[in-house]
Amino acid sequence: MNIDLTEEELSFREEVRAFLKEKLPADLSRKTLNGLHMEKEDYVRWQKILHEQGWAAVNWPVEHGGTGWTPTQKYIWANECAVAGAPDVIPFGMKMVAPVIYTYGNEEQKQRFLPDILASNVWWCQGYSEPNAGSDLASLKTSAVRDGDHYVVNGTKTWTTLGHYADWIFCLVRTGGPDVKNQEAISFLLIDMNDPGISVSPIITLDGHREVNEVFFDNVRVPVENRIGEEGKGWTYAKVLLTHERTGIARVANSKQRLGQLKRLAAETADGAGSLLDNLAFAQKIVDVELELLALEYTELRALASVSTGKAPGPESSILKIKGTEVAQLIDELFVEAAGNYSMPFVKDQFAPGFDGEPVGPGTAANAAPRYFNNRKASIYGGSNEIQKNIICKAVLGL
Ligand SMILES: Cc1cc2nc3c(=O)[nH]c(=O)nc-3n(C[C@H](O)[C@H](O)[C@H](O)COP(=O)(O)OP(=O)(O)OC[C@H]3O[C@@H](n4cnc5c(N)ncnc54)[C@H](O)[C@@H]3O)c2cc1C
Repeated sequence: MNIDLTEEELSFREEVRAFLKEKLPADLSRKTLNGLHMEKEDYVRWQKILHEQGWAAVNWPVEHGGTGWTPTQKYIWANECAVAGAPDVIPFGMKMVAPVIYTYGNEEQKQRFLPDILASNVWWCQGYSEPNAGSDLASLKTSAVRDGDHYVVNGTKTWTTLGHYADWIFCLVRTGGPDVKNQEAISFLLIDMNDPGISVSPIITLDGHREVNEVFFDNVRVPVENRIGEEGKGWTYAKVLLTHERTGIARVANSKQRLGQLKRLAAETADGAGSLLDNLAFAQKIVDVELELLALEYTELRALASVSTGKAPGPESSILKIKGTEVAQLIDELFVEAAGNYSMPFVKDQFAPGFDGEPVGPGTAANAAPRYFNNRKASIYGGSNEIQKNIICKAVLGL
């Protein structure tokens, strides 16, 4: 694959750089680059800026408001955003439920939901996992029983990322009875989080933050018109959504940016007469991860090329998910190693808005341990890496 940039691509890169320089708020960039806590308002502010520019929906087809960018343009965009410290676009609306709606939803659903997702007027969350259904997702128990033109939903969803911010949740629910095969008993419902009978309770993660939640449904009445596609076909739509999710988890551009920060931290860290970056053992670890990252980058480019027409990524997205998360976690480990003692104190306040105390140690060291612990999640969510290996065996290798 040739990734030398053409004249047009170089000028696109300049356009992106100029846009980021002018429009990316400095406070958001500082927070992103230093791993500080982001509020809902931070994400929404940035996504609205992107929308104004017409650059919110990088992967959507043009007819629904997508950018129509080539794979190379998307690659340039991701890299420039990572270097500049642009916040992540929250995936649940833009990258997960939207492709399901524009692919399987009816005209009315497209008109009703897509414009608000594009403009970031509505925050979505994902209601797939349950206390006893994670890897074995098809065994989920949340029930949706038909009552006239409504479903009555009962059950519990868990690990719901940023569900406390959400206006809507997309859910997998069981519409078929116990005699129906699991995969044919599941439907895909869009549910308003303000509906009576929904409650959300926090799960605090190891780094002290509220990121995930449990969501309880107690006789929640959901109009049948909120079902995507056919009853009992939700499993098919759910799997397509997961391939989009897994491609997004690779985060190659972010790992490249983090690797740059790691090298700077190592160069500033004294080791014997020189710096940690001169230490051959540590430098070898950096080279190893850099090579992994380069190989991953080419794999991601191939995947981007195959989805350039807006179609869903194939099961190869599992490869991106495994390698992307492994590389990111390796970088996290090396950060802790480079930060050494400075990764030990946990000053939670220093990640909160308004903190004006002295950081303990060099800037990026302070976040090394919380980030290491928090990012253990990456090899679990979106389907654990073990499950991705099973998918590769079956769907890619045909074993
Ligand atoms: C931080 C975080 C955020 C999340 N956000 C969301 C969200 O927003 N929405 C949502 O719906 N879900 C979310 N999840 C849930 C996530 O998708 C599940 O945690 C994941 O699918 C694993 O399910 P489980 O936790 O029930 O683990 P289990 O399925 O109980 O697995 C436990 C262990 O057994 C292994 N295992 C299980 N089955 C097999 C097998 N057949 N072969 C080999 N190994 C196996 C797994 O790899 C894992 O190591 C999130 C999870 C985390 C940690």
